[in-house]
Amino acid sequence: MRAVINGLRSVVRTTNYAPNGRNILRQNECILRPQIRLFAAKSSPACWNCQNKSELRQNMICSDCGHLQDVDAGINYFELLSFPTKFSLEPQKLTQSFRQLQTIVHPDKYSNKTSREQTNSADWSSLINKAYKTLATPIERGQYLLQLEGETMPQDNSALNKEFLMAMMERNEEVEEAEDAKSLEDLNAQLVKELEEMAQRLSSLFEAKDLQGVKGTLVEMKYLLSIQSSIKQKQQRLLGS
Ligand SMILES: [Zn+2]
Repeated sequence: MRAVINGLRSVVRTTNYAPNGRNILRQNECILRPQIRLFAAKSSPACWNCQNKSELRQNMICSDCGHLQDVDAGINYFELLSFPTKFSLEPQKLTQSFRQLQTIVHPDKYSNKTSREQTNSADWSSLINKAYKTLATPIERGQYLLQLEGETMPQDNSALNKEFLMAMMERNEEVEEAEDAKSLEDLNAQLVKELEEMAQRLSSLFEAKDLQGVKGTLVEMKYLLSIQSSIKQKQQRLLGS
C-alpha cells in the first residue's frame, strides 16, 4: 500500500517551461516576471540586419527587410501561435497555425541564406515545436498558463483530499487486477472521459481566476494520466505475450 502511495506521489512533479534560450537575462525575465511579459507593450529590438525597429511579422520576421530575427525564447507561446492567452482553444486551429509557422521557418528555406538566419530558422523551428506540444496537451497547457499567472504547481499532494487518493489507489488496483484487453479498454475509456471533463473544468476555473482550483485539478489530472500510462504498459505486455 505504501509503495502505491509513494508511486502516486512521484507523479506530482513540476514541469519547468524555462526556455533554453541563449539569452540568460531574457530567460530569467521569463521565469520571474511572466505576468509582466504577458501584458507588456511590445518593443521589438532593432533588426540585426537593417537596424530598423519595425514591426515583426509573426513575431519573427523584420517587416522592412524580411530577415529572420533571433529567437525570442521568452515569447508567450499563445502569442507565438496567434492565440489569445486563455485555456480554451480549438485544437484544429492550433495545428493549422503550427503548420503555417513551421512552413515559414523551415530550414530548407534558409539553406542559401546567411548562417545567422540558418541558425535562427532552426531555433525558431524547435521553439515552435515546443510551444505547440505545450499548448496541444490540456495538462501541459494548464501548467503553462498557471506559470504565466505567476503560480507554480504544488510539489506534493496537499492539494488533494484523502478520498481522492483512496479512489486512485483503488483504481490502480483495478488496473493491476485486470486480466484481459476488454477490461483494460473499459478502464481506459472511463479515464479518457474523466480527463475530458477535467479539461472542461480547467477552462471554467481559469475564467473564474480560481487558481487554487486549477492547481487541484491539474494534480488530479496527473494522477489519472499516470494510471492511464499503467494501463498502456499493461496493454503492451498483453499484446507482446
Ligand atoms: Zn530588417
